[in-house]
Amino acid sequence: MDNCIFCKIIKREIPAKIVYENGNFIAFEDIEGVAPIHLLCIPKKHIENFLEYPSSDMVDMSNFIKETAKEIGLDNKGFRMVSNIKEDSGQSVFHLHFHLIGGAKLKWDKLV
Ligand code: 5GP
Ligand code: ZN
Repeated sequence: MDNCIFCKIIKREIPAKIVYENGNFIAFEDIEGVAPIHLLCIPKKHIENFLEYPSSDMVDMSNFIKETAKEIGLDNKGFRMVSNIKEDSGQSVFHLHFHLIGGAKLKWDKLV
């Protein structure tokens, strides 16, 4: 999509710290990380959110997320995976992405 910031990262029209990539997916550092490691894993195909994403494609998406976690070493001590969906979640970029957050002991608290 022309005005999608993540599509621009995929096309290298804006810079990003890309950490892992294959033909269909790309992982890069979140520009405003909330923990020592904060990556975004996204499909190269523009899809607005998880609800719109074909479940059959989640097999490859899951494998990519696991490979990324292993590549970065997040698989050792663990990490949190989050996908915000629509307005109540606070989704701000409308290209499906999974946040991979780790590198430290994470807090877990009430969100409202
Ligand atoms: P959401 O709020 O939609 O779940 O997450 C969007 C994430 O994208 C945010 O954590 C935000 O920091 C990140 N983000 C927004 N714009 C950019 C950008 O231009 N580059 C990178 N690397 N991350 C971005
Ligand atoms: Zn997009």
